[in-house]
Amino acid sequence: MEYFLTEEQKTLKSLARRIAEERILPIRAELDEKEEFPWSIMKDLADSDMFRVFIPEEYDGLGGGGLDLCLIIEELSRVCSGVAVSYAATTLGASVLLEYGTEEQKQKYLPDIAAGRRLAAFALTEPTAGSDASAIKTTAERALGGYVLNGTKQFITNGGEAEIYTVIALTDKAKGARGASAFLLEKDTPGFSFGKKEKKMGIRTSSTRELIFRNCLIPEENIIGREGMGFIMTMKVLDRSRPGIGAQAVGIAQGALEAAVDYAQNRIQFGHPIYSQQAVQHMLADMAIQVEAARALVYATARTVDSGAKNFAEESAMSKVFASDVAMKVTTDAVQILGGVGYMRDYPVEKMMRDAKITQIYEGTNQVLRNAIASELRKRKGIRT
Ligand SMILES: Cc1cc2nc3c(=O)[nH]c(=O)nc-3n(C[C@H](O)[C@H](O)[C@H](O)COP(=O)(O)OP(=O)(O)OC[C@H]3O[C@@H](n4cnc5c(N)ncnc54)[C@H](O)[C@@H]3O)c2cc1C
Repeated sequence: MEYFLTEEQKTLKSLARRIAEERILPIRAELDEKEEFPWSIMKDLADSDMFRVFIPEEYDGLGGGGLDLCLIIEELSRVCSGVAVSYAATTLGASVLLEYGTEEQKQKYLPDIAAGRRLAAFALTEPTAGSDASAIKTTAERALGGYVLNGTKQFITNGGEAEIYTVIALTDKAKGARGASAFLLEKDTPGFSFGKKEKKMGIRTSSTRELIFRNCLIPEENIIGREGMGFIMTMKVLDRSRPGIGAQAVGIAQGALEAAVDYAQNRIQFGHPIYSQQAVQHMLADMAIQVEAARALVYATARTVDSGAKNFAEESAMSKVFASDVAMKVTTDAVQILGGVGYMRDYPVEKMMRDAKITQIYEGTNQVLRNAIASELRKRKGIRT
């Protein structure tokens, strides 16, 4: 389908595809098998100015938008979404700073992120606070010169590898979510350490780790926005970033579709390529329809975000839910089309199926996002304008 991308966007997309095919593809299986953080690829992405794309020009960035980011994430995910999420987590880690940070904070941190010298991470989830993020227990108590952070964050992407962390903590325990604030925390801050490194089903090259804060002093100037704004800012930046998860899902599904088409043309059974079977053709056709529909919704949502629209929470949730369900279905069907070898690690589709699952879980599970969409529907009595 023609998406009327600008020349710059076409260039960005083909550059991301080249990096994915030339640099990631040869080591994809090894990264997954060894569960090693893809530092060499992060360097390639930095050398190609990919981290500059989402940073404004005044902080050494290229001033791109959400659609630009989606194009890069999609192309990287088509080959390896573990690499893609390691890249995308830096954009999420920088997002509260980008949207709500002071000029001094931006000057201090964004040029390093733009150059890919320092990765970022975003830390909200805790052992007792997943879907119910308002149940966080990590506290940031006022102290001389700043705030003292205590608590544990769980499942943090880029944990241990990133240098800059956006951490959501309670500055007023009595107020619950309304007492949450956002802080910038540097990796080498005393009292900040890393706990369990998760062993995952998919996106295994990415790092998912526990963050531990024990009397960790954050300087006063590292609060982002005002006290009590942490939760609202978080919800807003997640609305912006969810199309990125949609793009990750579209990329995974596209990779699986291509692998399935290839295999179906080459695998001979009963004297013919299995592609000649109508049952297989219809599966492939349905996969292609779903991938294109997901891509169209993700791009349209990213364009809405880039247009400066104020409220896109619903579209953002829809694009993430739809694309991730598509990724799960399409990768499962791809494994089916490859038959026995689809189940083996020698072929990429079993990895794609494992990788697809997380897109239905993080940045709001699909059930929780369906709750949010349904709640909007009730408000509007189901009528879209
Ligand atoms: C690989 C990975 C990377 C991650 N990266 C990050 C990160 O970088 N930063 C970060 O802060 N977090 C991160 N997370 C956390 C992620 O966002 C949460 O796992 C997710 O929001 C779900 O929370 P939970 O795991 O506690 O599940 P729970 O909230 O315990 O949910 C369990 C089940 O109950 C369902 N459920 C819960 N409440 C409802 C409801 N009201 N209605 C219907 N169903 C409901 C859920 O949909 C789910 O099926 C990551 C998680 C993983 C696995």
